[in-house]
Amino acid sequence: MLAVVKDRKGPGFAVKDVPVPSPAQDEVLVRVRAVGICGTDLTIIEGKRDVPIPLIPGHEFAGEVVEVGSAVEGFRVGDRVTSSLIVSCGECQYCRQGMEILCDRIKEIGIHINGAFAEYVVVPQKTLVALPQNLTFEDGASMDPIASAYRAVCKALVGPEDVVVVFGPGPIGLYALQVALAKGAAKVLCFGTKPDSIRLKVAEKLGAVTGVASDEIGCVSVVRDTTGGRMADVAIDATGSVSALSACTRVLRKNGRVCIVGIPHDAAIVTLAEVVRKELRLYGSFCYTLPEFRASLQLLENGSVVTEPVISHRLPLRDFEEALDLIYRREAVKVMLIP
Ligand SMILES: [Zn+2]
Ligand SMILES: [Zn+2]
Repeated sequence: MLAVVKDRKGPGFAVKDVPVPSPAQDEVLVRVRAVGICGTDLTIIEGKRDVPIPLIPGHEFAGEVVEVGSAVEGFRVGDRVTSSLIVSCGECQYCRQGMEILCDRIKEIGIHINGAFAEYVVVPQKTLVALPQNLTFEDGASMDPIASAYRAVCKALVGPEDVVVVFGPGPIGLYALQVALAKGAAKVLCFGTKPDSIRLKVAEKLGAVTGVASDEIGCVSVVRDTTGGRMADVAIDATGSVSALSACTRVLRKNGRVCIVGIPHDAAIVTLAEVVRKELRLYGSFCYTLPEFRASLQLLENGSVVTEPVISHRLPLRDFEEALDLIYRREAVKVMLIP
């Protein structure tokens, strides 16, 4: 089968033929019908993230079951499926308390074990979820960023009448704004930088008030004007960098909540007096649990969240390099590969 293989330390990859894997007792072989490229995949391809070599990356996927292990129950050949990327041990303290994302022995599909930048992928049964009939494979392959956004919105306690500010109009930001509206948020604002113009147009189409965050003072005044001086209840930082964190605290009213989703690697400068005086709450949100994955799938099923405006490009798997170019040139929002 054709696969994208991270076959070396440092930057680079190969697109080549590799054997089709076979499922163990509790695993399922899935014919991949759509797989999205994520920021995490880029850090793997660039060699910035340590992974076992060789590795087939790719964790945002959906497809059809083509073979099931002898102990698998509830799935059969021909089923349309999507999958969570977290393979947790189910035994450690975090797993027992329903915090599988903090599992001491966590494995992630496409990061620690082979993923879906290939024609076929082997998946443990426990991470598989049936794809409802009214959803496409591309919907299924969008579940990872949708569920990540869902967890962040839930952690930030977004509810009716809230004004929510999303920094970063990438796929997670664009799904966070949809989930926030689905949770009844009265208004969502979305800020990006100048090169984000295509993404901000998508945010606008999805119902957000948008702005270019050239500086913090600019963001604060847009939020002040839009809320009649009341300011926002929730700020979600989906930029993946530390640049917006200070603005997150400044656009909030008293008792506001900040939620950081995505993984900023640098140190941030935040005026803690803002946090103390306004009694702000700060949450980190990492990935999602299986119940959150299922709840997000429902939002997709009932049409509260849509993928079509977020998916900007579709390419065959063998054009992986071209797909990367589209992302680096910031022409793409979400690229789907069709193996
Ligand atoms: Zn992802
Ligand atoms: Zn565990």
